Amino acid sequence: MGSSEPRLVLLGRQGAGKGTQSIRLAEHYGVIHVSTGDMFRTQATQGTAFGLEAKRYMDAGDLVPDEIVVGVIEESMVPGGPLGGGFVLDGFPRTLQQARELDRVIAGDPIDLVIDLDVPREIVFDRIAGRRVCEECQRVYHVNLRPENDWVCDTCGGAVRQRDDDTEDAVERRLELYERETVPIVDYYRARGLLTVVDGVGPGDEVFERLVKVCVEQLT
Ligand code: ADP
Ligand code: ZN
Repeated sequence: MGSSEPRLVLLGRQGAGKGTQSIRLAEHYGVIHVSTGDMFRTQATQGTAFGLEAKRYMDAGDLVPDEIVVGVIEESMVPGGPLGGGFVLDGFPRTLQQARELDRVIAGDPIDLVIDLDVPREIVFDRIAGRRVCEECQRVYHVNLRPENDWVCDTCGGAVRQRDDDTEDAVERRLELYERETVPIVDYYRARGLLTVVDGVGPGDEVFERLVKVCVEQLT
């Protein structure tokens, strides 16, 4: 590792459990969890001009344009800024262009490890359809475990809702975009020896153990 704190990127299809596992990994290593999706949703809820623009793309199941995403990330990456040390990136980079921009922004202190959290398409589709998310702390629930439609978050008491972009059409579109825009990043990192694939199927605790195991093996 370049610095004492790991710099990790988690890739994976929508619904692979990236969000939940990224938060746990960040806690485990005492580093920051960065989700561009969460950043956009928070801004949209606050009604900022930028958030409302991002929301138009998100609700349609489209990607937010690279310039906007990179601008947001770049602000946080400056030395001494919130991302000057270790981090777990969740949902960024999501296009080859973003991956190249990320390399440029953090040139002096590169990514240590990229994990592709692998869950097949058929499985993630069901997971997303039943997904409900806390508006405040972004904790993720599934309707199979809590059948009511709206309820209160166990962690923070926030309202738990279905995301506006978790409709069937938008999910279809996001999964297609993942294959087209994000899968090429897997090869980009593999070619540089940074990529590890982890099986994301199974209970959350087991998946987390697998993640920690590869981190211990690869972050030396
Ligand atoms: P999911 O991976 O389930 O789509 P996220 O919370 O990661 O959920 O992202 C939600 C939406 O936010 C995406 O569908 C996209 O519109 C936008 N978004 C998030 N991160 C990026 C990114 N790096 N590049 C472009 N758009 C992004
Ligand atoms: Zn909450």
